[in-house]
Amino acid sequence: MDEIKNKIRDIADFPEPGILFKDITPLMQSPVLLRQAVELLIAPYRNANITAVAGMEARGFIFGSLAASMLGVGFIPLRKPGKLPHTTHKVEYQLEYGETSLEIHTDAVGENDNILIVDDVLATGGTAKASCELIQLLGGNVVACVFLMELTALNGRSLLTNFNVHSVIQY
Ligand code: AMP
Repeated sequence: MDEIKNKIRDIADFPEPGILFKDITPLMQSPVLLRQAVELLIAPYRNANITAVAGMEARGFIFGSLAASMLGVGFIPLRKPGKLPHTTHKVEYQLEYGETSLEIHTDAVGENDNILIVDDVLATGGTAKASCELIQLLGGNVVACVFLMELTALNGRSLLTNFNVHSVIQY
């Protein structure tokens, strides 16, 4: 675990003053540690009958795609507005300053799908909550939200009390 932690770089004041950005690019340069990190991410849900993984743009695509491949299931991209080419559903949510939204293709999830939601960081929880809502809008079952890192001081779990939450590293 320490080896994985050592590959996550803190960048102060990025992208805005006051944010300590958790940079995963050093981890991505190590194929062995990246794989170990994704193994730890999905470990509690290996036998949970997951039928697809959903990941949020952009770093959720990296961990989510690997997780999907390792679980032997497909990947569903949850994207920023205007990026998905086919018919979409949208959920709007609050950022620290202002509002944004996430979109999903309307045919991405089926009624009996058991979805694992994957992202790199759980901060305030707004992104993950919107992701859960998108899956549920389409009738899917959110098995859990999993994160490589959880910034516990921001209490993102308080927005996700209806869902299972798992994080590999807590700060
Ligand atoms: P939130 O909706 O506040 O939980 O923010 C989560 C999203 O913002 C995730 O998709 C993260 O990739 C990104 N994020 C938030 N805080 C950080 C941070 N300190 N370092 C890196 N990414 C972050």
